[in-house]
Amino acid sequence: MEYGEGNAGRLGEHPDSAAFFVFTRTFGQKGGMILATGIVHSVETMGMVDGPGIRTVVFLQGCSLRCLFCHNPDTWNRNSKDAQEVSPQELVRRILRFRPYFGSNGGVTFSGGEPLLQPEFLLETLRLCRNAGIHTCLDTAGCGMGGYEKILQYTDLVLYDVKQITEEGYRKMTGRGWEETGRFLQAVRKAGTPMWVRQVVVPGLTDGEAYMTALQAFIRDHVPNVQKVELLPYHLLGVHKYAALGLPYPLHGVPAMEPEKVQKWQETYFSNPDSFTKNPKNQRRTSK
Ligand code: SF4
Repeated sequence: MEYGEGNAGRLGEHPDSAAFFVFTRTFGQKGGMILATGIVHSVETMGMVDGPGIRTVVFLQGCSLRCLFCHNPDTWNRNSKDAQEVSPQELVRRILRFRPYFGSNGGVTFSGGEPLLQPEFLLETLRLCRNAGIHTCLDTAGCGMGGYEKILQYTDLVLYDVKQITEEGYRKMTGRGWEETGRFLQAVRKAGTPMWVRQVVVPGLTDGEAYMTALQAFIRDHVPNVQKVELLPYHLLGVHKYAALGLPYPLHGVPAMEPEKVQKWQETYFSNPDSFTKNPKNQRRTSK
């Protein structure tokens, strides 16, 4: 999910809930194939920050992580009463209405929550988009339920959220270990799907010169096919949602990150692809 304002608060669920393990609903069978509906939090049109060009961004409901900086806790609960249940066909019909705005490099981005937690629905929707000639992008932390190889067959670009670069830091930041995201990265490596990497810069957790140097090395060594890296300053725009949900705010007292510092680190550490990729030719493979 793009790290900015939007998607006004809806009721969520406490981080410890296990409800997120049961996701995609099925509603029938056709030719032996199970047809799955999806649970969608919201659809944003004219998105300009979640992938190249102008995009329709589909936010899928449900997430198994609990990032300390999350500004959309309203997307966590898969069973939110405000989410909509739709079929892949219905959703693609809606997406196609915005096709005239996509131009030569726009398309659709599936975000969340965590879109990989609705694998059958995501796969079928991606497949239909691809067949319609729409550029497909997946905004993810890489923590789904497997089936990544198939999903990546229909994904043109992955926006990958790093979270934190040490095992201990990752667990502290997200509440989970990084085995699952490691499996996802392996699948991306195998598929050769181009990636854009995003890192939210949080004071005291993911900031500073030393962290940026280590982030460069982490991306170079562990994240495949990287075309670009985007640093996103931590902000406080989602704090009110925690109060509305009756949840304590995990980063209470941590100030917003100064955008000027982040801009400087962006230019110093991530303007030259040679500094974060072993394979600079990836830069030329797709999107702007
Ligand atoms: S992956 Fe993290 S930031 Fe994204 S929705 Fe889940 S908890 Fe929030």
